[in-house]
Amino acid sequence: MDEERRGVYPFCGPCTAGSEAWRAAEAAGPMGARFYGHRDVCENCGSSVRTLYNTVLWIPVSKVGTFRIVPTGGRSYVGRRVVDPPVRTVVRREPVSAIVDHPELDGSPEYKQAEVYWDENEPGQALPFYQAALVEREKVLAADDPATLRVRLRVAQGLLATANYGRAIAWFELVTPQLVDVFGPHHELTRAATEATTGARLMVGGPRSEARLLADIVAADTESLPSGDPQVLRDRAALGKAQLACGDISDAVETLSAVVRDAPSAHPDTEVYRAALIEACTVAEARGKKRDGRLVDTARQVLSRADAPTNR
Ligand SMILES: [Zn+2]
Repeated sequence: MDEERRGVYPFCGPCTAGSEAWRAAEAAGPMGARFYGHRDVCENCGSSVRTLYNTVLWIPVSKVGTFRIVPTGGRSYVGRRVVDPPVRTVVRREPVSAIVDHPELDGSPEYKQAEVYWDENEPGQALPFYQAALVEREKVLAADDPATLRVRLRVAQGLLATANYGRAIAWFELVTPQLVDVFGPHHELTRAATEATTGARLMVGGPRSEARLLADIVAADTESLPSGDPQVLRDRAALGKAQLACGDISDAVETLSAVVRDAPSAHPDTEVYRAALIEACTVAEARGKKRDGRLVDTARQVLSRADAPTNR
């Protein structure tokens, strides 16, 4: 697959292959993090391997990990976590899809046309056909059926290719944990999704711009769609995650609580949204601010609703 070989801008192919997508947490003040060292400079892309340490009063106290870094001017940079040793995937069987009972889905004119455009490297042209095929699939297959996930990923890639970055990010964030669950973390589809998320984020330019973009998208969504619509839920969940990445933790808890409250129970997508809310609550609790405490209590109530699934 050429997604694998090309490399994620600004990293070259080999540097991309030896690392994985990583989003730096924003840190300020005496508690922070700092890079040390500078080795394995790449002649292709100019990146180098540096070690990140947590610091207290600017003194390194614990190692976070090693990263391949490209400076982007001033104190900013883009980084990828170095994967070492090279990932040896446990042999995993291709997951079984219920599509064997629905051969008409792979035979539908929309799906076939979408595949033709995709194979011709025309993801934008393929997008509306994949979107139509996805509607048909989600009527008869589970949202996290392998055959549904393949088309969901194509929809996300089509949105990215047509510069719909916010909606693409929302799809990638929903679909990546599902790909990890169903295909495994090192499957080419999972890697394609994580790399594309990084690409979309680079185009948007940082969590602050991402949150602004997604807030506009959610505002547009809610003008035309009911609050429980899958698109509203997906875009709003991405907004919550971007708020968390900006450090707007109480906003994130509030946004993600609304998503989980409006999401249908016992749906695979709701599991992803619940996990995001739990993560936001954990961050808020670690910070221990009073206003966050009330929001977390409300969030915990939403999470423990009687009809909430207790396991998968
Ligand atoms: Zn390189």
